Amino acid sequence: MTIFARIIDKEIPADIVYEDDRCLAFRDVNPVAPTHVLVIPKKPIVGLGTADADDAALLGHLMWVAAEVARSEGIAAGGYRVVTNFGANGGQSVDHLHLHVLGGRAMRWPPG
Ligand code: 5GP
Repeated sequence: MTIFARIIDKEIPADIVYEDDRCLAFRDVNPVAPTHVLVIPKKPIVGLGTADADDAALLGHLMWVAAEVARSEGIAAGGYRVVTNFGANGGQSVDHLHLHVLGGRAMRWPPG
């Protein structure tokens, strides 16, 4: 069981900013931007690379929730970044699919 599964089950606390029947959004414990929210499915998908065709609608929903979070956090007008890390080279550290919603400062490209 990952730390995110325990957050979904409310076994450990998180600063939740959005929740519905399919997903949860909460503030990253170690933010790298003034706004840093994680959007995760309640379904235990390891990462983007392990999602299957049946998950396509859920993946779209997560993206929509990311945009909703950006609006509710007040970062939409200034622009923001949504990113998901997958696997070792992607820099993934928690094996439960998550979108990072980052905003409140200018982002650089390419990422390091
Ligand atoms: P990754 O490196 O897998 O793309 O991102 C995992 C993110 O989860 C990191 O930004 C890390 O700070 C965050 N994180 C790890 N453990 C916890 C936790 O227990 N609570 C919260 N809110 N965030 C966590």
